[in-house]
Amino acid sequence: MSDILVLVEQVDGEVKKVTLELLTLARTLGTPAAVWAGPGITPEAKARLAEYGADKIYVAASGDLVEHVVAPKAELLAQLITEKSAAGVLIAATAEGKEIAGRLAIKTDSGVITDAVGVGEGFVADQSIFGGGINVHARVRKGTPPSSPYAPTPPPPVPAAGAGTEEEVTVALSDAAKAARVVERVKQEKGARPELTEAAIVVSGGRGVGSAENFSVIEELADSLGAAVGASRAATDAGWYPHQFQVGQTGKTVSPQLYIAAGISGAIQHRAGMQTAKTIIAINKDPEAPIFELADYGVVGDLHQVVPQLTEEIKKRK
Ligand SMILES: Cc1cc2nc3c(=O)[nH]c(=O)nc-3n(C[C@H](O)[C@H](O)[C@H](O)COP(=O)(O)OP(=O)(O)OC[C@H]3O[C@@H](n4cnc5c(N)ncnc54)[C@H](O)[C@@H]3O)c2cc1C
Repeated sequence: MSDILVLVEQVDGEVKKVTLELLTLARTLGTPAAVWAGPGITPEAKARLAEYGADKIYVAASGDLVEHVVAPKAELLAQLITEKSAAGVLIAATAEGKEIAGRLAIKTDSGVITDAVGVGEGFVADQSIFGGGINVHARVRKGTPPSSPYAPTPPPPVPAAGAGTEEEVTVALSDAAKAARVVERVKQEKGARPELTEAAIVVSGGRGVGSAENFSVIEELADSLGAAVGASRAATDAGWYPHQFQVGQTGKTVSPQLYIAAGISGAIQHRAGMQTAKTIIAINKDPEAPIFELADYGVVGDLHQVVPQLTEEIKKRK
């Protein structure tokens, strides 16, 4: 079977969950081949990739791949597509991933599908649009292979040992790919909560929360569950919560096991970032709020009463 290239997302050598999800998916499409772009691969990272089915691990250890924003990674993938006659490429649907995919599609004269929630036989992608109202099956018809970013969706990554055979790759980058240089990386202070896009549980607050101070209600519920905190754009635009926690079309895409939306109406743009959550609980005082169409469980009530009671109950059961 032909290689399905999976571009590895990693932070300080630690492989991100989305890569394991993509490897799980790649196993259904061909031979999973992880692509490590840049220096710093560790034995632990290699073991993790193999544990989730990577048959091959292409390691391109050149520092240029991480020092020049996204263009070099697109060139690396284009080179591997030709050299390895890969049948497809899976790239996480992050802001960076989507940009790499777009550039790769141009380089390989291919189409590109973004924000798929699944990719099946023949690289037919499932896309969920209009807030989950319509499912689209889409396939790239021009160029081979398609590059297909994928918004992670449950089921979660499943281990299945792959050979994990390592192969060093020398990449020949064009000057154009090195035009933009990263001059500084500033590490964001990491709080005690899990990272929003990786968290198994996300508790999000919207305009219904009412103020920045009131977000403590959301944070307390999140902390009682060991969850990440998210917010709607109405809440981040109001300055009640930092923009990096915005969930939705112009924010982060999350796919937790449990998503609790408090005081969020359920606008299409918000749904776009959370509709693949396995279980959705909505707390809203308006029984007609659109979020209830999507929710598995709903509580009609004032979040300022419901959420603290919920937090209290969860704490009691610990
Ligand atoms: C191009 C574009 C991109 C966008 N991107 C995003 C995005 O990435 N993410 C995003 O979230 N939005 C995005 N939006 C905005 C989106 O359209 C909505 O405006 C936004 O999601 C609304 O946020 P909200 O649900 O918090 O507020 P509202 O729609 O105002 O809803 C507030 C809800 O809180 C309820 N409520 C009020 N008080 C209480 C209370 N005390 N207890 C319980 N419930 C209460 C109300 O009944 C209501 O349903 C985008 C819009 C555009 C045009």
